[in-house]
Amino acid sequence: MDRYRVAEGTRVNLAAWDPSDRSGFAGTKEEGEKAATQLNKRLEELQEMLWADRRHRLLVVLQAVDTGGKDGTIRKVLEGVNPVGVRVASFKRPTPPELAHDYLWRVHPHVPGNGEIVVFNRSHYEDVLVVRVHELVPQSRWEKRYRHMVEFEKLLADEGTTIVKFFLHISKEEQRLRLQARIDDPTKHWKFSMGDLDERKHWDDYQRAYEDALSETSTAFAPWFIVPADRKWYRDLVVATVLVEAMEKMDLRYPRPEQDVSGVVVE
Ligand code: AMP
Ligand code: MG
Repeated sequence: MDRYRVAEGTRVNLAAWDPSDRSGFAGTKEEGEKAATQLNKRLEELQEMLWADRRHRLLVVLQAVDTGGKDGTIRKVLEGVNPVGVRVASFKRPTPPELAHDYLWRVHPHVPGNGEIVVFNRSHYEDVLVVRVHELVPQSRWEKRYRHMVEFEKLLADEGTTIVKFFLHISKEEQRLRLQARIDDPTKHWKFSMGDLDERKHWDDYQRAYEDALSETSTAFAPWFIVPADRKWYRDLVVATVLVEAMEKMDLRYPRPEQDVSGVVVE
């Protein structure tokens, strides 16, 4: 899945990244789903060990345009993982107290502690995406934020946090289909707001803002992955693979017991 990693210092042109690519997996959709189920089981084991081990932390950043599939990815990829050691932090429009502080103020308290996996469902990156597209702060301010974000993530990494960042990349046509599906299905109306249609008008601005964010902030210690996300099964497979690989690298182990209890019989 290294093909989807943005190498540090490369310039991302999203038009050259195919949202329906599936070249990382040779099999059919059914085989892909089976592979994802197996990865999910492995993730469950790794998470159990991460929690027991308490030496590592995993931060997963999820970004996408509306209908990009953040919720579905979280549901699918983390299915069956013990909720005790996993949290999802969702970043909405900032509240007045949040707006009264620097933009990282509301983010830092949510980073994972020892043994934890935390998924950022949107993140500090909104502060160079929606904020830039809608000019919520002047360019002179948001343009400095890429560097802050790299440094912030460096701090987390230096202190023992593993970071992976996913941009779920869908096509404009796929977004049209998904928005329409939300409108046509009354049980999905809660996910839809008229504002989503206004946001869609800014499609090109968002793509440009994403290109800059991906280009400026993909590093060896906090890489971005551009996930082809038009096919949900493939998206889940890519994300699960990257997460399992990241956790395999942690060299996780169960802590040694204080006393050797092997052979002890409970009466
Ligand atoms: P949703 O993910 O659909 O619940 O929507 C959350 C909304 O909050 C999205 O429209 C985001 O663009 C918005 N949002 C998240 N972070 C920020 C931010 N820092 N500034 C402005 N809007 C934000
Ligand atoms: Mg929404």
